[in-house]
Amino acid sequence: MFKNFITNNRKFKPTDPEYQQVYLINSMLLGMVVVFTFFFFVNLALFSLYAVALLDFIAAALAATLLRRFQVSNNVRQGANYTVLLLAVFLLGYYGFTGPEFYSLIWLSLFPPLAFFLLGRRRGLITTVIFLSLLAILLGWRASLWPDGSVSSEAVLNVGLATLCLTLLVHYYEVSRQHVFRALATQHRQLQRLSVTDTLTGLYNRIKLDNILSHEIARSIRHSSPFSVILADLDFFKAINDNFGHMAGDQALMSFSGILQQYCRELDVAGRWGGEEFLIICPHTDLTGAKLLAERIRAAVEHYSFAHGKQLTVSLGVACFIRDDDASTILKRADDALYRAKGKGRNRVEM
Ligand code: GH3
Ligand code: MG
Ligand code: MG
Repeated sequence: MFKNFITNNRKFKPTDPEYQQVYLINSMLLGMVVVFTFFFFVNLALFSLYAVALLDFIAAALAATLLRRFQVSNNVRQGANYTVLLLAVFLLGYYGFTGPEFYSLIWLSLFPPLAFFLLGRRRGLITTVIFLSLLAILLGWRASLWPDGSVSSEAVLNVGLATLCLTLLVHYYEVSRQHVFRALATQHRQLQRLSVTDTLTGLYNRIKLDNILSHEIARSIRHSSPFSVILADLDFFKAINDNFGHMAGDQALMSFSGILQQYCRELDVAGRWGGEEFLIICPHTDLTGAKLLAERIRAAVEHYSFAHGKQLTVSLGVACFIRDDDASTILKRADDALYRAKGKGRNRVEM
């Protein structure tokens, strides 16, 4: 319940940079609602400071409105802008009222980290500089009104310098965080690509084929549209390795995957099922269409001159999705067809 509230009911991946921002915006706004409501009652009932209590009430209502708005709109950039603005207005108003008494300037330290985190490095820096300049002007203007000795100029100087250092530190931290985040995102993409790719041929590997097949089955059931699979196995491939070496075998596998990529249509997906077996998934394709594609591939291989100089052929088994099929049953039919193609002398297509 609270987790849904704090994340705006969104499902975040750990790599999503918006996750922490949404979390922080909701926490900040909620915190402000609680704090201002508390001081509203304290100032009203305990100290009879009616003007201050009214301001507390307005601030609490504003924070609550922004919180509600952010929960509905989910607009992170806007939510971040409003949260930082509200904090700036609150701090300026607070110092305007109290002056730098009772160590109140310590609350300045909230601003730079929050601005950098919510607005990013560049906008965070600009906002912090504007905020600190406004504050310096305000304090300079109000200082003449403070009673003598309420705060020393050394104290203000110390707080000012410490805030400046903190700003630089947060800036540096934010730059490093962004670097690391970008590097992680790139590595994540590379790993994701590697995890679904067959390294020798560059085609999809079996993990990805399994995924696509399940997806295609679900789609076929939902839309009652046909799809087919073709299982291809190179003929007497062991002989290539035995006679010309493993490198020649690898080269032939790469050439064959090139042929597959050339002959498959845009929607078809070809991948390496294992060894010298390949699977082609053909969405929106009935048995006749898939057989035509399989026949084209067979003929292309037959006429292709492979690097080792000898001819190679391929046998293919075709199966079409039927009701109640799952991945294993449709693959079993394709495999049976392939087995028949081998049995009938190879270099053939069977359905
Ligand atoms: P069939 O016509 O019955 O399919 O005969 P085949 O020789 O192609 O069948 P078999 O399954 O006996 O042999 C497959 C061979 O494929 C055996 C294996 O060494 C070879 N092979 C599997 N993966 C690779 C690979 O990545 N590179 C190379 N060079 N050879 C591979
Ligand atoms: Mg085989
Ligand atoms: Mg073979």
